[in-house]
Amino acid sequence: MTALAKIVHPAPEVEAEPELTDGFHLVIDALKLNGIETIYGVPGIPITDLGRMAQAEGMRVISFRHEQHAGNAAAIAGFLTQKPGICLTVSAPGFLNGLTALANATTNCFPMILISGSSEREIVDLQQGDYEEMDQLAIAKPLCKAAFRVLHAADIGIGVARAIRAACSGRPGGVYLDLPAKLFAQVMDAEAGQKSLVKVIDPAPAQRPAPEAIARALEVLKSAKRPLIVLGKGAAYAQADEAIRSLVETSGIPYVPMSMAKGLLPDTHPLSAGAARSTALKDSDVVLLIGARLNWLLSHGKGKSWGEPGSTKFIQIDIEPREMDSNVEIVAPVVGDIASCVQALLDGMGQGWQQPPSDWIETLKTKREANIAKMAPKLMSNASPMTFHAALGALRTIVKERPDAILVNEGANTLDLARGIIDMYQPRKRLDVGTWGIMGIGMGFAVAAAVETGKPVLCVEGDSAFGFSGMEVETICRYGLPVCIVVFNNNGIYRGTDTDPTGRDPATTVFVQDSRYDKMMEAFGGVGYHVTTPDELTRAVNEAMNSGRPALVNAVIDPAAGSESGNIGSLNPQSGIKKKK
Ligand code: ADP
Ligand code: MG
Repeated sequence: MTALAKIVHPAPEVEAEPELTDGFHLVIDALKLNGIETIYGVPGIPITDLGRMAQAEGMRVISFRHEQHAGNAAAIAGFLTQKPGICLTVSAPGFLNGLTALANATTNCFPMILISGSSEREIVDLQQGDYEEMDQLAIAKPLCKAAFRVLHAADIGIGVARAIRAACSGRPGGVYLDLPAKLFAQVMDAEAGQKSLVKVIDPAPAQRPAPEAIARALEVLKSAKRPLIVLGKGAAYAQADEAIRSLVETSGIPYVPMSMAKGLLPDTHPLSAGAARSTALKDSDVVLLIGARLNWLLSHGKGKSWGEPGSTKFIQIDIEPREMDSNVEIVAPVVGDIASCVQALLDGMGQGWQQPPSDWIETLKTKREANIAKMAPKLMSNASPMTFHAALGALRTIVKERPDAILVNEGANTLDLARGIIDMYQPRKRLDVGTWGIMGIGMGFAVAAAVETGKPVLCVEGDSAFGFSGMEVETICRYGLPVCIVVFNNNGIYRGTDTDPTGRDPATTVFVQDSRYDKMMEAFGGVGYHVTTPDELTRAVNEAMNSGRPALVNAVIDPAAGSESGNIGSLNPQSGIKKKK
C-alpha cells in the first residue's frame, strides 16, 4: 500500500443553495397568512405576475374590466366579511381608477386595501417622465384612512400588517398600499422572508364602552316618552345581529333602519317604523343612533325632518369618538364597538325595564299601516309600460320568497322607490349607493356579493346607473356568477322624455330610446330577457334566479314615470334667474 493510496479525499463542500423568495411571493404569503383569500383587480404593468402567482398559490383572483369596479367589489367584500377587501391595480391611471372606490369605501367605513404597483421612485421624485409617472402615495393620502409604501422586500410583512390594522380597527376604512415595481423582483432568503411576515392578532379589538356612558344613556332612554332607535350600516357591519334584535325587543323601542341596515330585523317586524319614518323622526323625543351618522341622510339631526330645535335628544353609539356632536349635541355619547355597547345597554336594562308608552307605539303603527295601505294599489298596477311601483311590487314579492338573496340597488327613482318598497328579511342583504349616493357600484358589488357569500344576487339598476359599470357583465359571465340584473329602462336619467330646446341634439338626460340592455348579456353567453309587464318581469327573474346563471332583464318602464333626482330633487340648485314668460 503506498502512502498515496491512504489519502482520503474529503467530499467537496457543496454550498447548499439557500432557498430564495421575492417580493411577489412575500406579498401573496403575507395576505394568505392573514386569511385573505380573494383579490379583485385588473392586471397590467407591474402587477400582472402578482395576479398570476396569487392564482397559482390558490388565491381567488377576480379580474375586472375597469379598476373602479374591482375597487367597489373589494369595498363591499370588506363590508360583508369584516376582512379588508383587496383591490389590485397598475400604476397611475389604474391607481386613479381604483381611488374613487377607495375614497368611497373610506366614506362608508368599509375596510379595504387598494394595492397599486407604482413606477421607479428615483425617476418619479425627480419628475423625469417615467412610464405612468405619478406620486401615488401623496395623492392617495387625503382620500383614505392611511397610506403606506414598502421599499424593501423584508418590510412587506409589516407593510401588509399595518394596512390590515388600519383598515379594520376603530372606524373601518380604506387604506392605500404603494408597491413600486422594483419591489416585486427583490430577492431575499426564504426563511428570513417567512420570519418577516406578520399575522395580525385581533385586527379589530373590542372597544368596551365606559360604564358611566352606559348609565347616562340608560337614564336618557328611561326619561323618553317617544323613543326611537335608528340602525345604520355600522350596525349591519358589526355583525351583532342577535344583540341588536334583543335590544329592540327587550326595550320595546320602535326602530327605523337606514338603507343598508334594512333586514337587520325583518322589515315586517312589529317594532319597525320604517314605513312611518317621517313621523318617527319628527315626533320622537329621544333617539338612540346605532352605527348611523347624523349626516345629510338624516337631515343632520335638525330642520324640517325633525321636531322643534332642542326637542329631540340624541344618544349615539359609535366607535369613532369624533363623530359625537358632529352635527347636533349628543347628550349621551357611547363610544365603543357596537357589539359591546349594545350588550352593555341590554345588561343595564335588566329585569325592571319599562316599555315605552303605548300611545307612541300605536301612533307609529297606525301611520305605518296607513302608508302601507296607500302604497298597495300602486304596487299591483298591471299597466304597460310599467310604472316604477308596479315593477318594484313584483320584485318585492320575489325578495320575500328568496330572503337569502342579496339585493344590490342603484339609480335615482329606482333606488329611492326600491328602498321603500322592497322589504328585507335578513341582515346585510341590501347593498346600495351608501353615504355618497354614488352611481356605479352595481356590478362591482354584485360580483363580490356572489363571490364572498355564494348566494344568489338580484341587482336592481336604473338604466343610467347600470351604464357606469355595465361592461362588467362580461366579468359576471366569465366567472359564471349567479347574478340576475334587472335594468329599469325608462330611456334616460330621471325620465326619458326630455328634449333639447334648440332641437339639435338629444336632451342631456336621455339615452337611445328602447335600448335592449338584455342583448349585452347575451353577447357574453348569459341569458337576456325583455319584459314589459310585471307578470313577465316576475317570470323572467324567477327563471333566472332558479337557473343560477348570469341574466339581464331589460324591464321597460314608462319614460314619463320618474321624478327629477328621485327623492332628493331638493338638492338640485335652481337658477336664480326667473324665466321670461
Ligand atoms: P348609515 O348611512 O347607514 O346611517 P353611516 O355610514 O352613516 O351609516 O354610519 C356608520 C357608523 O358606524 C360610522 O359612524 C362608523 O364609525 C360606525 N361603525 C362602523 N363599525 C362600527 C362598529 N363595529 N362599532 C361601532 N361603530 C361602528
Ligand atoms: Mg332611467
